[in-house]
Amino acid sequence: MTSRRTRERLIQRLREQGIKNESVLDVIVDTPRHWFVDEAIAHRVYEDTPLPIGHNQTISQPYTVARMTELLLQDGTPNRVLEVGTGSGYQTAILAQMVNEVFSVERIEPLQRKAAGILEALGLKNIHLTHTDGGMGLPELAPFDAIIVTAAPEEVPESLLEQLVVGGCLVIPVGGDTQQLQRIVKTDESSYQTHTLEEAKFVPLVSGLIN
Ligand code: SAH
Repeated sequence: MTSRRTRERLIQRLREQGIKNESVLDVIVDTPRHWFVDEAIAHRVYEDTPLPIGHNQTISQPYTVARMTELLLQDGTPNRVLEVGTGSGYQTAILAQMVNEVFSVERIEPLQRKAAGILEALGLKNIHLTHTDGGMGLPELAPFDAIIVTAAPEEVPESLLEQLVVGGCLVIPVGGDTQQLQRIVKTDESSYQTHTLEEAKFVPLVSGLIN
């Protein structure tokens, strides 16, 4: 049920849904997604569906994780990546196996603590987790080569764009009830090119910290 064979079936489905980046698919096959949810729902974790992780949050569905990672790596592999919304830590784990350093922020401390334990058990050492409100990014560690946001704001936060290097990209769902995935490339200090992609369904990006 949690075997590599099950993950290989998932990969097949992701390929059929249009995921083309083979390195992303390789990393998904190697990553035990069932570690990131409670045992009671672990049997559902290789279905292509979001699942609850507590505190009214969800682990994103595998297609969404694969798609956002593919979009983030589209123009080459970024060196330092900021992730807003650690959640279960699953997307963080995928990223950490593909880029040099991942800085991931989460506003709900118990989720961050749980993710930290799993990521450590996986032996991933290039991850820096911070309990903070990521709506304003992580200015003290900026700039980043790429930023991924796994919760949806109504509008793209200006501060995230400011924290990108020129040539860097931001992958983010934007909207309320209906959301659109956007890939925004910083073309020079104050210009951006926005590509609006498919519809998305994320929990909202909210401000404030929970301990
Ligand atoms: N990539 C995660 C997605 C988790 S859901 C996964 O697959 O598990 C989105 C997460 O974003 C939630 O854990 C939520 O608490 C967090 N979040 C929402 N608003 C935030 C904010 N302003 N700063 C940091 N984290 C935030």
